[in-house]
Amino acid sequence: MQQHRPDKPPPRKSLGQHFLRDEAVIERIIACFGPAPQDLVVEIGPGRGALTFRLAGQLRELHVVEIDKALVKALTRQQEGYPGLHIHAADAMTLDYCALAAGRRLRIIGNLPYNVSTPLLFKFLHDRHCIRDMVLMLQKEVVDRMCASPGGRDYGRLSVMLQQSCSVDELFEVGPGAFDPPPKVNSAVVRLAPYPHPPHPVGDPGHFSRVVQTAFSQRRKTIRNALKLLVDGAMLAHAGIDPGARPETLSVADYVRLSELSR
Ligand code: SAM
Repeated sequence: MQQHRPDKPPPRKSLGQHFLRDEAVIERIIACFGPAPQDLVVEIGPGRGALTFRLAGQLRELHVVEIDKALVKALTRQQEGYPGLHIHAADAMTLDYCALAAGRRLRIIGNLPYNVSTPLLFKFLHDRHCIRDMVLMLQKEVVDRMCASPGGRDYGRLSVMLQQSCSVDELFEVGPGAFDPPPKVNSAVVRLAPYPHPPHPVGDPGHFSRVVQTAFSQRRKTIRNALKLLVDGAMLAHAGIDPGARPETLSVADYVRLSELSR
């Protein structure tokens, strides 16, 4: 039977615990993030601290958010010598990022727990006005959806919602062997940066979100049928959109136009 040290509680699958163990990958993530001492940084899910202590050595203020009490305890034991490291025993889904930012703009880094990565992305999207940028590791399949262009199988609600308000760039792929325990899937690191001035601004974010969600919940239908309760034929014509087109063929700019015309 495997013995676990007190600073190394056994991994919990239900919390998406796959700890980074490949030093080259850890260094590469941090190099892509490029921490500067004055940055206000939040790390999501520090786990056993693979990224944490390297970051804490370079930053005046680092906040880490960990839900697992055993890991929080282990991190706290190693906290001495890092006066700028603040450990939050909390759920990253409910943390108030704007309150933490207190008028500044946060930088977020994390090897995200895969089980909550999509809801977390929507939470960051909601709080984007307090966020400068994010370097995140996620399942490769999710990163493909985040970066997808119109017309493909991966293009959907996540692509449109993120790309409307952020630049989204895949940085590099990471294989299962970089983690302990290895996940069953490949991962990728992505950079997201909320636009200070989005190229396609929306006047009513709630309505935009409703239009996009409704369109992609019925992706086999034509856009006219999928959106019939929100958008009429005249609006489609005015927006220059073929009513027989499928939802996955419309660009971010098309969805923004439809949302603005039907507000
Ligand atoms: N950063 C570490 C690393 O790279 O080795 C751990 C990454 S592991 C994929 C995800 C971490 O997020 C785990 O430590 C897990 O306990 C934590 N976690 C899971 N759900 C969470 C939540 N809702 N809020 C905060 N942390 C969470």
